[in-house]
Amino acid sequence: MKDSSEIQCPNCAGKIFINSTLLIKGGSFSCTTASCDTSVSLSNSSYQVANHAMKEFEKVKGNNLAH
Ligand SMILES: [Zn+2]
Repeated sequence: MKDSSEIQCPNCAGKIFINSTLLIKGGSFSCTTASCDTSVSLSNSSYQVANHAMKEFEKVKGNNLAH
């Protein structure tokens, strides 16, 4: 089961890979750009980004169920 998702960093537009299971459990995920220290989690100020990622994840999950 695919439970990871790739989102765009709100700071540098780089990639942030998140795991939805860990995200729900309160985990945070750092931007892959070495010079950028942005991290995303449900509990910090990047909530909107995380929320967007969860919606993307739900879409992926929905697509999988449709097959
Ligand atoms: Zn970044």
